[in-house]
Amino acid sequence: MEHETVSRNFIEMEIDKDLADGVYDTVCTRFPPEPNGYLHIGHAKSILLNYGIAKQYGGTFHMRFDDTNPTKERAEFVASIKEDIQWLGADWGDKLFYASDYFDQMYEAAVTLIRKGLAYVSDLDAQQMREYRGTLTQPGREDPGRGRSIEENLALFEAMKNGEFADGEKVLRAKIDMASGNMNMRDPVIYRVAHMAHHNTGEDWCIYPMYDFAHPIEDAIEGVTHSLCTLEFEDHRPLYDWVVQSLEYPHPPRQIEFAKLYLNNVVTGKRYIKKLVEDGIVDGWDDPRLVSVCGLRRRGYTPESIQKFIELCGVSKAHSTADMAMLEYCIREDLKLKKMRVSAAIDPVKVIIDNYPQGQVEYLEMENNMENPQLGVRQVPFCRELYIDGADFMPEPPKKYFRLFPGNEVRFMKAYYLTCTGFERDADGNVAVVHCTYDPQTKGGNSPDGRKVKGTIHWVAAPFAVEAEVRLFENLVDEEKGVYNKEDGSLNLNPNSLTKKTCYVEQGLADAQAYDSFQFIRNGFFCVDSKDSAKGHLVFNRTVSLKSSFKLPTDGR
Ligand code: ATP
Ligand code: MG
Repeated sequence: MEHETVSRNFIEMEIDKDLADGVYDTVCTRFPPEPNGYLHIGHAKSILLNYGIAKQYGGTFHMRFDDTNPTKERAEFVASIKEDIQWLGADWGDKLFYASDYFDQMYEAAVTLIRKGLAYVSDLDAQQMREYRGTLTQPGREDPGRGRSIEENLALFEAMKNGEFADGEKVLRAKIDMASGNMNMRDPVIYRVAHMAHHNTGEDWCIYPMYDFAHPIEDAIEGVTHSLCTLEFEDHRPLYDWVVQSLEYPHPPRQIEFAKLYLNNVVTGKRYIKKLVEDGIVDGWDDPRLVSVCGLRRRGYTPESIQKFIELCGVSKAHSTADMAMLEYCIREDLKLKKMRVSAAIDPVKVIIDNYPQGQVEYLEMENNMENPQLGVRQVPFCRELYIDGADFMPEPPKKYFRLFPGNEVRFMKAYYLTCTGFERDADGNVAVVHCTYDPQTKGGNSPDGRKVKGTIHWVAAPFAVEAEVRLFENLVDEEKGVYNKEDGSLNLNPNSLTKKTCYVEQGLADAQAYDSFQFIRNGFFCVDSKDSAKGHLVFNRTVSLKSSFKLPTDGR
């Protein structure tokens, strides 16, 4: 019998309680990215969490661009974020919103606070503001503007809106408590002057709301019930609650915080990824070495593998980190049965079978995936000249090397036993051609006399092979040294994070399209590069190698 383990995360338990207590009768969540960069694996956690919760409770999921800060936001980011969220499988239906669409309502909300005596215009500059704020051990001092009359505040705030002040000359502050133990409650700034065009509202506004004021209003307007965010907002929750209460929204949303997802030894933060892009260290936001969502996609990750990974990471309030090995485990598991297993000779070396008839071609049947017969079979040509992986031949092998070397007999996968009889070097001293003989009695890769060989290697028939480029990746940062340089905070880069190699692949891959993915036998999963691959110049990114050091910690959830 199917046995379902009921292990609910702490957010689900809170929601269950809210529903049982009648605090809410429906569930509405949102993902609120700021369009100032591309999404990364950490955002994927937030997206899948919010989307998953809404779906599980039969509620609604909102996609909302938190575009209240015109300085860093760009339309390019809006488009990429939408694409990434759709790709991850979070469907917002017709619930697509922009915080900037609520600028009128936010302005009105600020006016309401002024009318209630809960907000005032301040003349302090940023420096003075800091001095007046006090410290953790000392209460703040009253802003000279704090005593202004409601009428004066209304007039000044309107003048701010009408462009009568320069940037930084005036701000609107919430009137809360300058002695609060929570610094966020010491009369936080809620509106500032910024003469700046906005990607959505253009020149309409020269004042913009601050995040802590705008966010609860956005949630309340949309009827969000559970506003899930990361732990750094925990100290902001009293302000969030103050805003929704002061504005008397009929169904106040509730903020719940969870821990961010971090990957060990991996550059995750938007700020750091942006720097790598701007410094030209990577090939854009979608560089396959990045854990940006588009980078992972270009690398060959699937939405299913990312969903599985996020599920394994779990949701909690305690900071924790996950290993890249777990993400790699998830993609291997996802692709294992889905993808064709084909031959590719990387750093190719030519093999000539001297006793094989010139001009003869045999077609050998290969299973497309030994573990999944549903993928069928294909006919692969075999002939006198083949390519093998450079790593599968050594002129002078070390101990325990069971592949091809002079005098050794190995199995050519599904074909014949071949014995190496010698090799030739090119002018530079590199191995150019390996000579072999084959045993016609061993067709299919088995010997009728029971003769055993220790190595089995894969191959591609030379006249039919298609040349391609493969890109092999390592961590962008040097794990031995740690991600960040202790002295200046810069990244400790790994000079070997990208290696480009030549290879020959089976003819059947000649027309492979962007994102098509295959297992290259013994070498890993590879995916056609979406940017640089073209007909006649195929480029494959190695998604992940086949070897794994990762063990699933539990009984295989
Ligand atoms: P970064 O931390 O990379 O600078 P951000 O928090 O500035 O990202 P936003 O666009 O503000 O990026 O994030 C949108 C949502 O994604 C927020 O609710 C934020 O809490 C969440 N989020 C960001 N990073 C992570 C992470 N590492 N794990 C889980 N959720 C995250
Ligand atoms: Mg943020």
